[in-house]
Amino acid sequence: MAKRAAAAWRVQYPYILMKNCTEEQEDKREIYYQLVDLGKNPDPEEVSDIIGNRSWTVCVCDECGQETKVVVSIAAGGAAGSRICVECLQRAIRTAKELLKKEQRGNEAAGSHK
Ligand SMILES: [Zn+2]
Repeated sequence: MAKRAAAAWRVQYPYILMKNCTEEQEDKREIYYQLVDLGKNPDPEEVSDIIGNRSWTVCVCDECGQETKVVVSIAAGGAAGSRICVECLQRAIRTAKELLKKEQRGNEAAGSHK
């Protein structure tokens, strides 16, 4: 995560490369240049220090809030999207399967009346 921090920051705040930024945007741009200055293999601690929190160097599941090694990003309509851990994904799949089963049972019951 830390390695891609500068690139990810640019994606998150694309306006930082524009001229005529607002003051807030210039703050973001300042952070971007600091991230770039760290080089290709930045220390995650330094990245966290520059950004001010650890959300860019650790994965946190948006669903359960746990730190985890792997999250899957689920984006809808170009939004930033939710980052979901494997446990939460599995729980979602289990729930979906149960709903599907109920739905199928419901259809069979309806069909038997014909
Ligand atoms: Zn989770």
